[in-house]
Amino acid sequence: MSQQHTSQRELFESRPQWDEDDARRGTIATVVLPEGVEKPLDYLVPESLAAEVEPGRRVRVPLGRANRETLAYCVAVRHGDLPQAPLKSVVGVEDAKPLLSARMIELTKWMADRWMARWGEVLEAVLPAGVRLRNRVRLSPLLMATGVEPPRKPTPAQAKVLAAATEPKTADQLAAASGASRAVVQRLVKLGLLAEAGAVERPGRAKAERPAIVHDRPAELSPAQASSLASIKDAMAAKRHETIVLFGVTGSGKTEVYLQAVEETVSYGRQAIVLVPEISLTPQTCDRFRARFGTVAVLHSHLTAAERHAQWREIASGRVNVVVGARSAIFAPTPRLGLIVIDEEHESSFKQATAPRYHARDVAEWIAKAEGVPLVLGSATPALETFARCLSGEWTMCRLADRVGGGQLPAVITVDLRERGSRSRGAVSPRLAAGIRWALDAGGQVMLLLNRRGFATHVQCRACGHTARCDQCDLALTLHQPGNRGICHGCGLVARLPADCPDCHAPGLVHSGTGTQRLEEQVRASFPDAAVARMDTDTMRTRGSHERTLDAFRNRQIDILVGTQMIAKGLDFPSVMLVGVVNADAALHLADFRAAERTCQLVTQVAGRSGRGPLGGRVVVQTSTPDHPAIRAAATHDYEAFVRSELPAREALLYPPYGSIVRMVVRSIDERAASDWAGHLVERLRRAAEGMPEIRVLGPAPAPIARLRDRFRWHLQLHGPDGTSLRALVARATAGLKTPDNVAWIIDVDPVDML
Ligand code: ADP
Ligand code: ZN
Repeated sequence: MSQQHTSQRELFESRPQWDEDDARRGTIATVVLPEGVEKPLDYLVPESLAAEVEPGRRVRVPLGRANRETLAYCVAVRHGDLPQAPLKSVVGVEDAKPLLSARMIELTKWMADRWMARWGEVLEAVLPAGVRLRNRVRLSPLLMATGVEPPRKPTPAQAKVLAAATEPKTADQLAAASGASRAVVQRLVKLGLLAEAGAVERPGRAKAERPAIVHDRPAELSPAQASSLASIKDAMAAKRHETIVLFGVTGSGKTEVYLQAVEETVSYGRQAIVLVPEISLTPQTCDRFRARFGTVAVLHSHLTAAERHAQWREIASGRVNVVVGARSAIFAPTPRLGLIVIDEEHESSFKQATAPRYHARDVAEWIAKAEGVPLVLGSATPALETFARCLSGEWTMCRLADRVGGGQLPAVITVDLRERGSRSRGAVSPRLAAGIRWALDAGGQVMLLLNRRGFATHVQCRACGHTARCDQCDLALTLHQPGNRGICHGCGLVARLPADCPDCHAPGLVHSGTGTQRLEEQVRASFPDAAVARMDTDTMRTRGSHERTLDAFRNRQIDILVGTQMIAKGLDFPSVMLVGVVNADAALHLADFRAAERTCQLVTQVAGRSGRGPLGGRVVVQTSTPDHPAIRAAATHDYEAFVRSELPAREALLYPPYGSIVRMVVRSIDERAASDWAGHLVERLRRAAEGMPEIRVLGPAPAPIARLRDRFRWHLQLHGPDGTSLRALVARATAGLKTPDNVAWIIDVDPVDML
């Protein structure tokens, strides 16, 4: 785009001076504001800034009657006739270089339309905050102490500067904070005791003692791996876009295929982006890529703004060939992209839960198409949306039906919780307890999945049935120990639980339902000889705790690992001989059409952690609905059986992948205001949908979580055969809408969260 723009300008500059039209012609920049005015605005580019204003840089423009100077993204520059009404002028240029390529500008525009987000909001979302802050013209670099051992004792002035440099600061800020001169700061930079923040490997995090787990490049690929890799290489060699889905059971060697596909990409001098769910972004995963490729840019949510900026620059300069990261790594500014891989593509964390509510899979497909490169999606349990596109022939599916090296999938035993006696030992049935014993006696390890944290899921009065609830949410409090605290999992509010029922004053409240804390306690009591650890968001709050627990488990310092879905993902521990799913139905009956799909995926994933080594393994699944297709499929390692039963059900109801959904959620502190506004929206949508029988407007209704953080929540849904017509309808129905002050509402296109 910028090239085209330059040639236009050259054309203009070569025009003869006597051209009278010149007076009414000029250079016009179209800009998008990060917030406020939604539609793009035109500004005149003064001669003095003509060389600097270009698409992708931010400019300063006067806004409103008061001409308040505002930062805006320049998205286009054109030369042409000026409109009748006079245009205001751009007053300054913020960035020394464009932050966004022409392709990124095009992508963000598409995203804004696709997910009904404001363009400015999308532009902000694709640029890390650190990049936005630090691309300023003439901004001096942020410096930080490196922690390097000084060659000799620092002078008092140097020591003061170093003490001030524990946080990133500019040289001027450091001088001001320490009272030392700038010369002292510069000297420390020369000595290597200060360095640009972000380039710094901070002490304590530098090179852990942890031995890297070595996955050698296997001598030979399995036939299924080889043919999957061949499909990817074919597309790459032909320089064409193709979406290839690796549908492979856990342990079938999908990651090895990604690694070799990335190798091929790098051998062409191209870059690869590999997306994994945030939860799988463990040092184990990263080590595997680093061991193969050396420098790998890892983009995860714990990076500081400065670190993110440093990574961004490395990627943009083309010095790093491999980018591994969570959802937003899809926006990594790779100048020579050759391949995109999404591992565990069914994970709902690839959809952003806040605006812009984009799905990384769709963004990846857009980019891969635009760049003409392959997109590889891998999963043992592909999303039904993905499956359907393979069945229709649009995407290519490669199956990896067996574990590499002839490993067997573990035998699965289902325990019917409705049967008497199955619960005689708390949450662990006798069958599960026997399984644990078997694994421990054979020298194996155990993983127990329970997707509910806390001690007890309900605190209830035995006499009147009163349940302790959060004051500001429509949710029951979960009991957490120690300290008998009731914690709301919606808002995090912590309450002291009363000893007696606040309603009927009967003494003693009972704790029902088991969370991971209680499970851990029960397991410790039943298996006193085993080392037990728990992994959930409560125990994993500090940085590095996740990694420490997994390392301890790998080193066999832990025999039984109890945890939430955190333990279910992508981990490869060969000594795990038993996996227990304590309550497979926990999420099966949620008011969400994907509940069955998610349950089947989670149980399949966690079951796949068992029996990866030579000792084999078993899985025990405890359920009250052993005949549910989601549970049956997971128990027989036949995810496709679930797909076959679920797709027709979705088709009958025109649910995705056979139809599209737009969800709107209205929130207000005032229940009446929320329901009125939801009702008003529904009315406008129904009117706009007149004569379109294929579109259904459902609601308004209280959302399944009807109150959260003191806000009442009402929702409505639109169902229709395709997203384009739904979005057009919503745009028409909500144009020029003036939202009351006490109401907030959002539009979620293709929602994955229905609560
Ligand atoms: P997935 O990603 O499908 O779960 P991985 O790629 O992690 O599977 O492979 C599982 C294990 O098998 C890993 O330890 C990996 O190093 C090993 N492996 C993968 N491919 C081969 C192969 N062709 N030959 C031998 N071992 C392999
Ligand atoms: Zn709450």
